[in-house]
Amino acid sequence: MHIPVPEPAPHHLGYPESCDTLVAFTGPPERRRAIFAKNSDRPRLECQPLAQIPAADHEPGSAVECQYITIPQVPRTLAVLGSRPWWLWGFEHGVNEAGVAIGNEAVYTHDPVPQSGLLGMDLVRLGLERGSTAAEAKRVITGLIEQCGQGGSSVMGADSRYHNSFIVADHTEAWVIETSRRHWVARRTTHGAAIANLLTIGDDWDECSDGLEEHARDMGYLSAPAATRFNFRVAYEDMDSRPRVERRWGVGRRLLAGPDEHDVASMMRYLRDHFEAGQVYAPPPEGSPAPLTVCLHYGTTNGSTAASMIVELTPGELPPVAWVGMATPCTGLFMPVTVGRPLPKELETGDDRPSRDSLWWAMRELQYVVDRDPLLLTPITRAVWGPIEQRLLAGNPRLPAQSLHRLIAEIMELRDELILQLTVAQLQSDHAVSSTPSA
Ligand SMILES: [Zn+2]
Repeated sequence: MHIPVPEPAPHHLGYPESCDTLVAFTGPPERRRAIFAKNSDRPRLECQPLAQIPAADHEPGSAVECQYITIPQVPRTLAVLGSRPWWLWGFEHGVNEAGVAIGNEAVYTHDPVPQSGLLGMDLVRLGLERGSTAAEAKRVITGLIEQCGQGGSSVMGADSRYHNSFIVADHTEAWVIETSRRHWVARRTTHGAAIANLLTIGDDWDECSDGLEEHARDMGYLSAPAATRFNFRVAYEDMDSRPRVERRWGVGRRLLAGPDEHDVASMMRYLRDHFEAGQVYAPPPEGSPAPLTVCLHYGTTNGSTAASMIVELTPGELPPVAWVGMATPCTGLFMPVTVGRPLPKELETGDDRPSRDSLWWAMRELQYVVDRDPLLLTPITRAVWGPIEQRLLAGNPRLPAQSLHRLIAEIMELRDELILQLTVAQLQSDHAVSSTPSA
């Protein structure tokens, strides 16, 4: 069966314009914990390996080179595990040794985005390196936005600029931060929050930058009487992307509105969500509009989910364990990686050249093969990865170095076998179709 790949809309040519980040609090009061989850959607062939950055002390007066600008370094940075588009200094998402997890989203407001400044991914990494609690990381991010500003292209070889929103979480609380140039608002939650490529904070903010409302009035974004509480979303949001994002965002909101029972497995299902198609990508019929789903495949836009992370933030359980996935989560599997431990080379290898030493490229090729006929091939793929995920979820996720190495070797071997199995299944299906007499 040939799956037609619709041309992406011109609006999407530069950047997939998506990502989903969620935090949910769960458990009884004496063992309350947070679960953080993010899908990072990026250009479809942009490799996103993992990076394990050790804690470090820095000389007074030293500086740190971020993607486009250099800023003063702090005396000490924390150990961080992050998911890094290969050409970027910063992270799409990550978690630090103190149990703070952060993910960002592209958001669009009436303010133009400067040519240079801090990228959202710079701010994710800086928040993780400098914040030992969610509140501290929130102060780092908002302080740097005020001092240095945001800007620069997030896509290699293209001029794709956006403002950012963030979820910053530890086991006690989470902050949603939404921004426009050097302005920001922040909302605290101990229940949960979902963000995507739209503004979610209206008049329910807890903190904001000085002059946020005045800037909106000066620029003509706001005409409501000053007596009402300032509404960030109404004043600042560029509504263009909202209609394409709301349905996807609704998946996370419904999850948070349901019973307060979340775990790593339920977050895996969330990150694999394809609306009514369940956890399988169902390409739309040729010519019909393609919805942006939580798990994003090329064809819907120019981009694809490149990497995923789930972290359970539990009091006293440090360093944290991140469940990481590479390429689309519905075609791959999540594996547990502990912050601060050396990474097998397959997890940290990868750039723009496809490599057999890179798990990202291995899983991306597998996604490509499954996407040729996802309704037929995804169940075959899940039948291989599902039992391994079950085994990992049932065991101690803090794998010793040797066990993680063995797991990666097992995954690489099974992937090779799977690609052969999927190719044969597709050929058999094609043969069955072509040998069916037409009516
Ligand atoms: Zn998918």
